[in-house]
Amino acid sequence: MDFKRLIRDVPDFPKKGIVFKDITPLLKDPKAFQEVIEHLAARYKDKKITSIVAMESRGFIFGGALATRMGVGFIPVRKPGKLPWKTFQETYELEYGKDTLEIHQDSIAKGDRVLVLDDVLATGGTAAATIRLVERAGGEVAEACFIIQLSFLNGQQKLKSTPLYSIIQY
Ligand code: AMP
Repeated sequence: MDFKRLIRDVPDFPKKGIVFKDITPLLKDPKAFQEVIEHLAARYKDKKITSIVAMESRGFIFGGALATRMGVGFIPVRKPGKLPWKTFQETYELEYGKDTLEIHQDSIAKGDRVLVLDDVLATGGTAAATIRLVERAGGEVAEACFIIQLSFLNGQQKLKSTPLYSIIQY
């Protein structure tokens, strides 16, 4: 299926100069949404994945659906102050300023093989911080997976040796 036609470009959102990749047309198309999940389930079927780690908040949409389809656990990575139990924190650089992400300290067991999943890979700061969180918690990142990769922003460089996969590239 041509998923690109279901991604809407929204110029100057959330601020001037950013072209926002809006996934809501894809999500409301039941065949397309299902096909994305089936495609990823097939890709990761024999990769011995134990859990899916997804980032707030659009990562949760794909992560929850894929976790139930694959029969593996789902682990949320959230902005500070949202997770109720003991957390690890990682701070990363934004264009202007910094941001922090958290994961529950007991969410991952030593040796777990985790799939990191988000909707968009842009500059890579979010994904790199998430990978560090998984590793601090004792897990191994089998692959970092994105529905959309904005290759021109070079986020792939920040992921270093972590394998990377994306369905749609710009
Ligand atoms: P980054 O840390 O720069 O890779 O940004 C990744 C996060 O920001 C992801 O969780 C995306 O949902 C969101 N994001 C960044 N740029 C865009 C964009 N152009 N369109 C949609 N979402 C974006």
